[in-house]
Amino acid sequence: GIVTRFAPSPTGYLHIGGARTALFNWLYAQNRGGKMLLRIEDTDRARSTDAAVDAILDGLSWLGLSWDGEPISQFERAERHREIAEELVKRGEAYYCYASAEELDAMREAQRAAGKPPRYDGRWRDRDASEAPKGVKPAIRIKAPRDGETLVRDKVQGDVRFPNADLDDFIILRSDGNPTYMLAVVVDDHDMGVTDIIRGDDHLTNAARQSIIYKAMDWDIPSMAHIPLIHGADGAKLSKRHGALGAEAYRAMGFLPEALTNYLVRLGWSHGDDEIMSTEQMIEWFDVSDINKGAARFDIKKLEALNGHYIRQADDARLVDSLIAILPEMEGGAYFIDRMTDERRAQLLAAMPGLKERAKTLVELADGARFLFDERPLQNDEKAATILAEGRPVLEGLLPELQALQSWEIESLDPIVRAYAEREGLKLGKVAQPLRAALTGRAVSPGVFDVLKVLGREESLGRIADQLG
Ligand code: GLU
Repeated sequence: GIVTRFAPSPTGYLHIGGARTALFNWLYAQNRGGKMLLRIEDTDRARSTDAAVDAILDGLSWLGLSWDGEPISQFERAERHREIAEELVKRGEAYYCYASAEELDAMREAQRAAGKPPRYDGRWRDRDASEAPKGVKPAIRIKAPRDGETLVRDKVQGDVRFPNADLDDFIILRSDGNPTYMLAVVVDDHDMGVTDIIRGDDHLTNAARQSIIYKAMDWDIPSMAHIPLIHGADGAKLSKRHGALGAEAYRAMGFLPEALTNYLVRLGWSHGDDEIMSTEQMIEWFDVSDINKGAARFDIKKLEALNGHYIRQADDARLVDSLIAILPEMEGGAYFIDRMTDERRAQLLAAMPGLKERAKTLVELADGARFLFDERPLQNDEKAATILAEGRPVLEGLLPELQALQSWEIESLDPIVRAYAEREGLKLGKVAQPLRAALTGRAVSPGVFDVLKVLGREESLGRIADQLG
C-alpha cells in the first residue's frame, strides 16, 4: 500500500496550513488503504521545542488525524544521515569542500558585484583530497548536474523544470557534522518507505534538489504533490491577522473539529459542488489529482457558517461536554466555570435545542447560555433595558397569572401567555419581548417558553418580580 507522511517542524503550534497538509495526507492514505507516518523535523535545535511537539500531536488528535506507528524524530536519525553523506562521497556523487566561511563570503560578494546570483562555484568539486588544508573540517556537497534541467513530476503542478545552472552543489553535511535539511528529508522519506509526498508548494524548489540526491543514491523518487498555500480572504499570504492560528486556538474559539476538517478539505480541493461532507465521504472522494493549482483563500465567515451547521447537527449532550471542555481555554470561560453546578449543567442540556439554533461557535453557545449562569438580580443589556422600560405594565399584568399556575410545563405556560396577550389586545411578541428581557437580561434568547421551563418556576417568577422592583 501507499505510505504518506506529515513532517512538521516543531517550532510552533499546528497552524491551519499544516493542519490541511496533514488532512490531505491522512485522507489520501485512508482512501488508498495505506499509512500516514509522522516525522517531527526537529533538526533546528534552537527553534524546536517539546511544547510545540505536544501542540502538534494534540492538534492532530483533536482533528481526528491519526498516524501510524510512533512519531519519528529527524534529529535522532543524524547518524544515518551522516552515513549516507559519506556513502555519496564514496560513490563519487558528493565531495568534501574545504572552503572557509570567509572564502565563501568573498566568493558571493564578488558574484553579487558582477551582477550574478550568489552560488557555490564548485571550487572543490574536482580537487584532490591531497590538496585539503590541514586541520580544516570539510563540509560535504552534492555533485549536482551542471547542464540540462531537473524535472519534478508533480501531481498538482504538472511537470516543473529547473535549469541545473540554478541548482548549485549544495551542502548535504555541514562541516560540524550536522546533516542539512535537504539530505535529512530524502534519507528519512526513503527509509520510512514513503511513496507519496504531499506538502506545501513552498517546497517545490527543494523537490528539485532532493531529486538530485535520490538519483545519486539510485533511490526511487516518491510521487510528489505540492499543494498551493493558503492565502487570506484579501489574497495576501496568510498571516495571523487572517486567522493563521494554531488548531488549539480554533478549539478555544469554539469550532468543532469536524467543521474545521470539512472547511480545510475544501481549501484547494473540491468534489463537485459538495460543501458539506462527512469524514467517510471525504475519504471516499479525496484524490490528489483533484487538488487545485491556485491558492486557496481562507474565509473565517465561511468556517463559522459551516461550524454553525455542525453545531445544529450535533448531539446535545456532546455539545454540553465540548463546551465545558473548552471553558478553561475560552476567553471569559471562568465566569461559567465558577458557576457550574450539576443543576446548571442539566439546565444547559435542557436548553441546548434552543441554544444551538443560534450559535455559530461554542463560544456563542456559551454566550447564549449566559442567562442560566447569571444570578439575580440580572444585569440587563441595553436593548433589554429599553424593552423593559416600556414593557413594565405587561409584566405587572402577567406576573399574577403565572404565579397562579399549578403546573410549570410548556403546555400550560404557552396558553396562559397567549390568552393574556389576546385579552390585552397585544401581539404575542409584545408580551414575549419584555418577558424574555426579564428572564434573560437580553433581547435575544431561545424561545421564551423554553426559557421559562428551563429556569423553573421559582427562578422565573423571581426574575420577573426583580424587574417590577
Ligand atoms: N518540515 C517541513 C515544514 O514544516 C516539511 C518538509 C516536507 O514536508 O518535506 O514545512
